[in-house]
Amino acid sequence: MRSVEEALDTILASAHLTGVERLPLDRCVGRVPATFTLTAAMDVPPFANSAMDGFALRAADAPGTLRLAGEVAAGDAELPEVTPRTTVRIMTGAPLPPGADAVVPLEEAEESDGQVRVPATRPGAHVREAGHDTRAGEAVELPRDPLTPAAVAVLASLGVAELEVRRRPRVAILSTGDELRSPGEQLRPGQIYDANSPALAAAVIEAGGEPVVLPRAPDAPAVVERLVREGVKRADLLVASGGVSVGRHDHVRDAIEHLGRLDFWRIAVQPGKPLAFGSVAERMVIGLPGNPVSALVTFELFGRPLLRAMLGLSGSGRPVLPVTLVDRLPKDRDRRAYLRVRVERGPDGPVARSAGGQQSSQLRSMADANALLIVPEGEEAGEPGRTYQALLLGAMG
Ligand code: AMP
Ligand code: MG
Repeated sequence: MRSVEEALDTILASAHLTGVERLPLDRCVGRVPATFTLTAAMDVPPFANSAMDGFALRAADAPGTLRLAGEVAAGDAELPEVTPRTTVRIMTGAPLPPGADAVVPLEEAEESDGQVRVPATRPGAHVREAGHDTRAGEAVELPRDPLTPAAVAVLASLGVAELEVRRRPRVAILSTGDELRSPGEQLRPGQIYDANSPALAAAVIEAGGEPVVLPRAPDAPAVVERLVREGVKRADLLVASGGVSVGRHDHVRDAIEHLGRLDFWRIAVQPGKPLAFGSVAERMVIGLPGNPVSALVTFELFGRPLLRAMLGLSGSGRPVLPVTLVDRLPKDRDRRAYLRVRVERGPDGPVARSAGGQQSSQLRSMADANALLIVPEGEEAGEPGRTYQALLLGAMG
């Protein structure tokens, strides 16, 4: 059995960057820039302007009473000159008129009969210098993350109308199992609804990928093989679920071995011991365990970092933080456990409580969990009062 790190290293070593596409800026939020360093083509702001509604003047003329000699609004191009002992009414964002070197805010000045009384000020007061946010020619480093609304704003302020972003990794999703039906269909005895296709498609979208949901495969080797071949043609990566264990009807692992190369098929992780990884037709193939909790947890641990690597990002993009466990949570001694917990703020730091049943068929606790508590190999349980690392999946309550 491989450790989580060994398995992840093997998987990430196979990752290749996806291609790029050019998008209008207003469609770029959440997307990953193809390059993270830009050279600013202009100063932002492009000209010195007022930070306040007020009066533009020469600082050397204040304090005193100045003659009101004009007005300048945001967007004005024709600017009145500020000569000695005069002032010009100015709006926030309006260019600083020639001659002026400071702005006195409206509320600090007294205006009557074309005269304005101003208190003492200093050169540069309430003035935004040209380039005070970004200088022309400066290297602008974007965070190595999906673009946020603020990053979109920075790009817009620099005049960027279109951006090259990484193409979303296409992920073919294949559920296997004779017992599975789609939600909306009538269940016969022995059948259950396919939770993994919708769940993994959702997890792929959340990780920045684009799911391609394949028709479901029955537990028939020839059909599994046909769909695996179809999947790797239509996507950058195939994620199958079910059929990777040692049962008589577990055909996914055989299909990978038969059609391509199987790198490993067991990981010392709970939930999710049987996890097959390999390649078919030079596309990566991951066979996740069938239990929906195991499928989601292993996608979180291996699929999500893989998709991020394909986008040029590192890590899982999830915060990991130390938490104190409240409950006792038994686990398998040989495997590292990722237990479903709710992390909340406590008086002495974050505390974790069980989110419910920890069997891999108990899906509800997965939806109720906002974190996975990491209990190392070699331990029999998560113990109350001890501190563990928690992988945060959602906001802390
Ligand atoms: P398997 O890995 O195929 O042996 O499946 C393990 C367990 O997960 C069995 O109880 C399956 O019925 C269940 N299972 C497998 N695939 C799915 C799925 N797509 N949705 C819900 N349950 C599943
Ligand atoms: Mg099965």
